[in-house]
Amino acid sequence: GGRGPEKEIPFAKPGSLTRVFAVASGKGGVGKSSVTVNLAVAMASSGLKVGVVDADIYGHSVPRMLGVSDRPTKVEDMIMPPVAHDIKVISVGMFKPADAGNSPVVWRGPMLDRALHQFLADVYWGDLDVLLMDLPPGTGDIAISVAQRMPGAEILVVTTPQQAAAEVAERAGSIATQTHQQIAGVIENMAWLPCPHCDERIAVFGEGGGQSVADGLTRSLGVRVPLLGQVPIDLRLREGGDNGKPLVLTDPDSPAATELRRIATGL
Ligand code: ADP
Repeated sequence: GGRGPEKEIPFAKPGSLTRVFAVASGKGGVGKSSVTVNLAVAMASSGLKVGVVDADIYGHSVPRMLGVSDRPTKVEDMIMPPVAHDIKVISVGMFKPADAGNSPVVWRGPMLDRALHQFLADVYWGDLDVLLMDLPPGTGDIAISVAQRMPGAEILVVTTPQQAAAEVAERAGSIATQTHQQIAGVIENMAWLPCPHCDERIAVFGEGGGQSVADGLTRSLGVRVPLLGQVPIDLRLREGGDNGKPLVLTDPDSPAATELRRIATGL
């Protein structure tokens, strides 16, 4: 005991003006973090105050994608998040012991829940318009914690067009039926590869996954869940992720960036 009452999470207070999006996927590698980062940058460059919580304990790739190498600093009892491209960023990776190197974070449910609470309540976010949370893939402990601690968080589901990926993505989204959260919509990533020699779209990962997740969630929730957009494969999106320069900044007119900006504007 002796820890005192828990600090309140500002975004969970009634009347909070911050919209919170929890970005979820069924499995890893579908581009959930890339989408989160590019949506965040698109929103910030349109003048919104944006924060990102990287709660993907397995991936925690958001700092690299945003080009953040600083660690948070402590000021009195608050944690000051590093800022990149006008976005405040906190990642589970920033709280690993310095000597842990690249070793995986082995955090169990209760510890994860405490970490999540710390990210939300002890970090100085200021007045945000939007907080984006990059969740681990699947329907794990973190998704449940987010739902309990921030029932107002809206879920964004990222999938690829592949049917197998779509099925697990739908399962991840359908926890919203149990938690009574809203699903803002589905984003299909890696939707196609533009042929470098002609106008054709190469369906590298098949077709229809995004729409089928949206339809499936619409059926199970009984409210319309929209397919918000389809982001094509773009080599520069991957490169930008590797070197901390998000595509929506470096190649704003590319089809992928245009689509990501359109999705961000529509949310
Ligand atoms: P997740 O967060 O779902 O695990 P990531 O965002 O880390 O997925 O993406 C996995 C890999 O695929 C990364 O190398 C990323 O740069 C790349 N990637 C994601 N979306 C695209 C895209 N639309 N075009 C090209 N590469 C992409």
